[in-house]
Amino acid sequence: MAEQFLNFIDGEWIAGSGSNPIADINPADTREVIGHATDSLEADVDAAVQAAHGAFASWRSTPAPVRGQIVAAAGRLFLERVDQIAEVLTREEGKILAEAKGEVRKGSNLVEFLAGESRRLNGETIPSEMSKTFAYTLRVPLGVVGLITPWNFPMAIPAWKIAPALVCGNTVVLKGAEQTPWVSQLVVQAFVDAGVPKGVLNLIQGRGETAGAALVEHPLVEAISFTGSTEIGHHIYARGAALGKPVQCELGGKNPIIVLADGDVDMAVAATAKGAFGSTGQRCTATSRAIVDARVHDQFVDALVREAGLVVPGNGLNPATTMGPSVDQDQFDKVHEYLAIGPGEGVETRAGGGRATQGDLEFGLFTQPTVWTGVDRSMRIAREEIFGPVLSVLSVDGIEEALSVANDVEYGLTSSIYTRDVNKVFEYIDHIETGMLHVNSPTIGGEAQLPFGGMKRTGVGPREQGPTAIEFFTEWKTVYIDYTGSMRGGNLY
Ligand code: ADP
Ligand code: MG
Repeated sequence: MAEQFLNFIDGEWIAGSGSNPIADINPADTREVIGHATDSLEADVDAAVQAAHGAFASWRSTPAPVRGQIVAAAGRLFLERVDQIAEVLTREEGKILAEAKGEVRKGSNLVEFLAGESRRLNGETIPSEMSKTFAYTLRVPLGVVGLITPWNFPMAIPAWKIAPALVCGNTVVLKGAEQTPWVSQLVVQAFVDAGVPKGVLNLIQGRGETAGAALVEHPLVEAISFTGSTEIGHHIYARGAALGKPVQCELGGKNPIIVLADGDVDMAVAATAKGAFGSTGQRCTATSRAIVDARVHDQFVDALVREAGLVVPGNGLNPATTMGPSVDQDQFDKVHEYLAIGPGEGVETRAGGGRATQGDLEFGLFTQPTVWTGVDRSMRIAREEIFGPVLSVLSVDGIEEALSVANDVEYGLTSSIYTRDVNKVFEYIDHIETGMLHVNSPTIGGEAQLPFGGMKRTGVGPREQGPTAIEFFTEWKTVYIDYTGSMRGGNLY
């Protein structure tokens, strides 16, 4: 029987009040309807926010280390449930099972790290200019926070937003992605089984333009943390500005890998293939531009085309598969629009370029890993995020031109350089406009204890993950205590 994916409000799994459920379709075989997500409207969002609001007083006064212990227990449950969660993830989202397990482990690491932050919610004591006065700062929670998350890391992203939000003493309404309602449910269930009390964590399934928008607009929601498309992120940021609410956004990327003439070309090719075709290119840190010195360009392209030929698209549950499908028809159509735009702009297609249909693949949303050469920085395909297994190669002369091309996009999430020249490494670190940098390693990947996020139009607000994750989910109280009550120092202002 097809599954029903429900909302979780005030400790109960319940249906939304909308009448238009969302089909959850397996992208590796679109004939399979896994189930339906309930359709939520403003009234459902209101019920979830009211529950979170009601639970706030008691959760914020639960000692932070106790909150941290509950969050840590959720991290352990994710590891215990890795096989179950990963299988659902592969069926709903399409990524191969190894990638899905990697995502669950990464999510668990993040939760574990952030649980530890519960013992480090430190303020500062600061000397007062008045005598007999003690001054200090105190981190306090915001209240109800809204989390809006995408389909591409449907386990890890909600987990790394929920964990710091709860550790800091906020209560949460999560609006998960339309395409991955089952994974959203499993994430919330793990936190609940770990001991998160009723009302503290609520889940809304449903559409962005109805349920998501209602969450942003709700007057009792103090802040929104969003990961998703640039267009929606900037829209939510504008709404936050109008409503006076802080908004944190993690948006698109157009991440370059720079390969200099003295770099290890074979390693650079392996990193590029991993970054461009891994997770079907559906990650904000995917490598989408290879900026290659003309002296090694042909060697690089020939080897990369060979690598692309080794990719095995297919159902991610099959152990022989090395690349899954696009997540849904909309995403697939968008990738294929770009596959038409590229040749129209004059690129040369050296690998792929179309749909993959051999055998069973015709029932899924599969694209051949694609490599384009002859790409100019002014082309749309060199500037816009494609979010598919598509790589543009741009030929340059030396590091200066490489950096100029690399920075000539509106995004600034992550980047990588391959060179053995230490001077060029530091020139790159100094001049590249990305929030994360990799020297002689792929653009993808990040560790739980380090900040994650981008510069320019990619990121708004404090960095996620690592010790900076708590910045967004707390605000400061500044306390002055005149401990003799005598106004001895007077206050000059
Ligand atoms: P994509 O188009 O790749 O799915 P989106 O940015 O549209 O990326 O979606 C990311 C998340 O934002 C999803 O949970 C989606 O439901 C939500 N969302 C989409 N539109 C809105 C909106 N207008 N207001 C609030 N949330 C939205
Ligand atoms: Mg969208």
